[in-house]
Amino acid sequence: MVIGILALQGDFREHEEMLQRMGATTRQVRLPKHLAEVDRLIIPGGESTTISRLLVLYNLLEPLKQRAGRDLPVWGTCAGAIILASHVLDGRPDQATLGVMDMTVQRNAYGRQQESFQTDLSFPVIGDQPMPGVFIRAPSIQTVGPGVDVLSRLSDGTIVAAQQDRLLVTTFHPELTNDGRVHRYFLEV
Ligand code: GLN
Repeated sequence: MVIGILALQGDFREHEEMLQRMGATTRQVRLPKHLAEVDRLIIPGGESTTISRLLVLYNLLEPLKQRAGRDLPVWGTCAGAIILASHVLDGRPDQATLGVMDMTVQRNAYGRQQESFQTDLSFPVIGDQPMPGVFIRAPSIQTVGPGVDVLSRLSDGTIVAAQQDRLLVTTFHPELTNDGRVHRYFLEV
């Protein structure tokens, strides 16, 4: 199994290092032909407006729309979650998204003081131990459709991880921790 990591912008190297430490085979994805070589895809954190623009420029948006969540399981972290969302609040008006996951996300949802923060998360599908949640100018998931399972919430109820069949989103960054459990979970969705 080859895990693709969209490598247009953002923290794709950290995902790659985490997966390689776990012994997984990875492939950076920059061009449509690379998609044929991967069995799963991670869309990393970064700047969603930039990643969107580059997806269009590199002709990746349409092939990904066709495959994401169908024959290609996809995990979006932070900006990647925005790219997958069907509805984006405070996106740029021309911001293209894949629109495949039935949810509304709010960009840059946490106020100034809270722009970046770390907190322990309850994330039952990966085990009982808390998952370190690293949030960096993160979006929040405001609502999810009926086909979406909520996997983790902040103590105030804000949704921070969700799954719709073979689509996974986290608004935080497991790749910036030493905890590989969400990565391992994604290898099995
Ligand atoms: N604020 C960024 C955006 O809107 C996301 C930040 C991140 O991915 N860490 O795209």
